[in-house]
Amino acid sequence: MANILAFIETSASGEPHESAAELLGAAAQLGTPTAVVVVTPGTGGHLGERLGVLGAEHVVIAESDQVGALLTSPETTGLAVAVEALDPVAVLVSHSLQGREVAARLAVRITAGICIDAVAVHTADGRIVAVHSVFGGAYSTESAADTAERTPAVVTLRQGAVTDRAPAATPKVTVVAVPNDDGPAAIIDSVDETPADATRPELRRAAKVVSGGRGLGSKDNFALVEDLADALGAAVGASRAAVDAGYVTPQAQVGQTGMTVSPQLYVALGISGAIQHRAGMQTATTIVAINKDEDAPIFDIADFGIVGDVFTVVPQFIEALEARKR
Ligand code: FAD
Repeated sequence: MANILAFIETSASGEPHESAAELLGAAAQLGTPTAVVVVTPGTGGHLGERLGVLGAEHVVIAESDQVGALLTSPETTGLAVAVEALDPVAVLVSHSLQGREVAARLAVRITAGICIDAVAVHTADGRIVAVHSVFGGAYSTESAADTAERTPAVVTLRQGAVTDRAPAATPKVTVVAVPNDDGPAAIIDSVDETPADATRPELRRAAKVVSGGRGLGSKDNFALVEDLADALGAAVGASRAAVDAGYVTPQAQVGQTGMTVSPQLYVALGISGAIQHRAGMQTATTIVAINKDEDAPIFDIADFGIVGDVFTVVPQFIEALEARKR
């Protein structure tokens, strides 16, 4: 079977990012899932086992002295080295901030076609086809790289969109040295870590999200959204109108100019359902909307809708959830 490379990002502590399971799951649908991880020399010893559990049949640990010193350049070079050695038909990269930059740089370096923000991948007529959810999720489109040379398709995958997982494997592990990159690169002077909210799941990857909109009316009232999120064990999201009104921080914004989420459950409270908001949540498995306007567009995509005042309905909702826990 053809090699499919999955570029694995790691956390500050050196563990594979959660998108690793999705990338390897997607890679397994196309060919032999091969994980490529670029690390500081001597720090990747645990990654073969970790990535094998997630389905990697081959793990390439590309060691570079420049990791952490240059922005995305060593990762791109490490991935390019793996492409050269393994001749893959596709390179899958998370559609994260780092992933997008690495994918774009790699595509330029190896003169490959790039398909961005895919929600699924498959093969057709021997070609890698990426599926995209566009116009706020109203349409699905497909794209394929069409290059003259036999180069792999580079595909960035939307985080949370791929639910298939690869079976665990006992991978072959290869350690390669990445040559230093003397081309143009942004230098990392310092890194400030922002402590994550340990009390709630991370919004982008949460299985459940409760979002609030302008209908909440004030920052104080927005606590109702947080209360329901905590009762459900969900992350907190928001519409842009709620963010612009200062009810919640911009990091919570879901939508076209905010975060794209794909949870199992998305609860929209006092959100009208503008196309720009839907663009960020329409791929949720189950959508529940509570809005006092029965004609609100959010009901067009909701699986369950409650026409009512959030200040009446949500406290009852929380009470019912708490009662079930007792
Ligand atoms: P509104 O549209 O004002 O809706 C409030 C809703 O609350 C109404 O439906 C009302 O019936 C309901 N309501 C009021 N009181 C109650 C109550 N007590 N109980 C129940 N329901 C109540 N928006 C985003 O969300 N994310 C984006 O990323 C984004 N990007 C954008 C990018 C561009 C270029 C542009 C032009 C716009 C963007 N927007 C985005 C803004 C978007 O167009 C909408 O303005 C915004 O989503 C509206 O937010 P909302 O639904 O909270 O507010």
